[in-house]
Amino acid sequence: MSTLRDQELKVTYSTTAADLDAVHARFDAALAEVRSRLGRDYPIYISQKPLRNDQPRIVDRCPMDTSLVLGRFTSATAEQAGQAIAAAAGAKRLWGSRTTWQERAAIMRKAAAIVRRRKFEIAAIMSLEAGKNRLEALGDAEESADLMDYYARQMEENHGFVRRMNALTPNESNTDVLRPFGVFVCISPFNFPMALASGMSSAALVAGNTVVFKPAQDTPWTGLCLYEVYREAGVPPDVFHFITGKGSEIGDTLWQHPQVDGIVFTGSVETGMRMFRGFSRKWVKPCLLELGGKGPAIVMDSADLDLAAEGVFKSAWGLQNQKCSACSRVYVHREVATTFIAKLIALTKAMKVGDPTERDVFYGPVINESAFHTWQKAVALAREDGAILYGGDRLDDGALAKGWYAGPTIVKAPLSSRLFTDEFFVPILPIAEIDSLDQALAESNKTDYGLTAGLFSGKEADIARFFDEAEFGVLYANRRTGATTGAWPGCQPFTGWKGSGAGGKGGCGPHYVAQFMREQSRTVVTE
Ligand code: NAP
Repeated sequence: MSTLRDQELKVTYSTTAADLDAVHARFDAALAEVRSRLGRDYPIYISQKPLRNDQPRIVDRCPMDTSLVLGRFTSATAEQAGQAIAAAAGAKRLWGSRTTWQERAAIMRKAAAIVRRRKFEIAAIMSLEAGKNRLEALGDAEESADLMDYYARQMEENHGFVRRMNALTPNESNTDVLRPFGVFVCISPFNFPMALASGMSSAALVAGNTVVFKPAQDTPWTGLCLYEVYREAGVPPDVFHFITGKGSEIGDTLWQHPQVDGIVFTGSVETGMRMFRGFSRKWVKPCLLELGGKGPAIVMDSADLDLAAEGVFKSAWGLQNQKCSACSRVYVHREVATTFIAKLIALTKAMKVGDPTERDVFYGPVINESAFHTWQKAVALAREDGAILYGGDRLDDGALAKGWYAGPTIVKAPLSSRLFTDEFFVPILPIAEIDSLDQALAESNKTDYGLTAGLFSGKEADIARFFDEAEFGVLYANRRTGATTGAWPGCQPFTGWKGSGAGGKGGCGPHYVAQFMREQSRTVVTE
């Protein structure tokens, strides 16, 4: 379904803004079409039936202009959540065993092709809804398609995870099969509203589980796109359900339902740990969590400082630092600190700030009022603990006053500051000077988080030590396109260590799909 031209217009997180005229033209056309659909009222979908209720709607507002209502989404009731789970439970056998793994993989490949066909529209919706710049939004849509394909491939390469085993006697035949758990609740955050939701749900589905999906309340429209993609691809009605609602109201009801067999969740440590502690009651159930991060970049005195400044710039200010993989702290060698900081500030000053749906705008607003207040508190802490080198002010010139524009803020702070250990998930970047790689590694490893980290060094020995000693699931050395960000399916498995995740095998990686299945040994004896 995706054309050769669409393939040529592929945008990943490593794509730079050069030679992309055709991409921009397609995005502009999609944005105009999407803008003509603003303000509609949307149902939830249970068994492909549109359902509404009398509850107050979730009002989906644009973070660039909070007076702009993108859509109104149904707040599912507890009864409706139960109805979705019961339907998903009823379809376990149909999807998990009567549908072959080859059929499921083929449906996922079709879904990937539909995402590629709709990628400009999906990216335009996402850009309006999440405040993500257009190239990153396109990257998110492309990643979604690649994830679906990659997870289908995992089933194919492993022959459906059916394996012939050894036999103890000649008349015994042994087979090992990985089989789905049943019903998965899939809950996603706002920041990668398509890719994370697609990755988690497609892995669950291709493995043979049925899914009840709830997107973040800030990004329900992108979530709806995913539902439409699966419906068009041929996922049967009772197999995938689309529920919108506030996590604080409907979340617990969803995952605490006794017919739920597994949770797949990406979001904050607070919500993830709440589920982990509360989910397994009668027996232990799978709870696959990808959680927060506090990504350090280490810049050594041997580093190429232009490269380091660019890599840090990209990972610190991409999506306004609202990525689990964002660069949210820097340890720079004392000898090069002044030069590195000057280069980083120069890049930050030159960055185009504005409406991220516009061409060449790199930096947009934070997601909502609550994130804006978090940023204000972080800036207050920065003023108390250290010295602000750049930013610290709300951006409210002209049209920016309509949205949640928190200025990118660079602060020099002592290593003891909470700025180096707490995840704020807003655009603030603390920098400290260090004297050695030993010290930088010790500081990097101090936090509870262990998702991504980056090193800039001209010495191979430094890179080897960094890979050996940094307690993070995703490590990058000398990466211009992102010091700590930009993982891609099949290229960089995205595994959170320590407080950043559970399971030890991440999305984008070769072991992901198998986690959605449990093993069954089958022995047949012929006399
Ligand atoms: P969040 O507040 O934990 O929300 C994530 C999702 O959980 C949303 O859909 C939310 O719904 C829902 N939720 C809230 N309370 C719930 C409950 N009691 N039961 C069930 N669901 C509930 O996180 P966020 O602010 O959206 O996302 C930012 C966090 O995600 C950061 O910590 C970031 O590092 C992490 N993250 C991690 C990864 C990774 O791969 N490791 C990737 C991206 C983001 P509502 O939106 O309706 O509240």
